[in-house]
Amino acid sequence: MTEPTRWLPEPDDSNRPFFDGARAGVLKLQRCDDCGGWMFPVRRRCQHCGSTALQWANASGRGTVYAHGQLQREYHVRHRGALPVIMAQVDLAEGVRMNTNLVGVSPADVHVGMVVSVDFEHSESGEAIAVFRPAGTPS
Ligand SMILES: [Zn+2]
Repeated sequence: MTEPTRWLPEPDDSNRPFFDGARAGVLKLQRCDDCGGWMFPVRRRCQHCGSTALQWANASGRGTVYAHGQLQREYHVRHRGALPVIMAQVDLAEGVRMNTNLVGVSPADVHVGMVVSVDFEHSESGEAIAVFRPAGTPS
């Protein structure tokens, strides 16, 4: 059996719009029709008001780094050639926090409060994963 070289999403009915959006280069999140609140990760009910009237909507893709760390040792084949991996929690403009990776930046230059924007890493199989890079830097 060949080990995967990357983690790839395994969408199900509850989160498929998120991953379909990623493939299309759009960050999609759930938003409540009743109170306008945004949610991440996927919920069945609004975390703000309890409503079940949730829709998928395009998010801004903008946020700030809340916390960050880095992986410097290769624990798995999927880390080969990718170190250091910068792991981060990003506070999105919509008011939700997302666990993600930062790309296009040196670990030494990452800081809490750094303004970042979404980007997408595409696999050979067509899947895409949302990552973030410093705002204003090219993909
Ligand atoms: Zn709500």
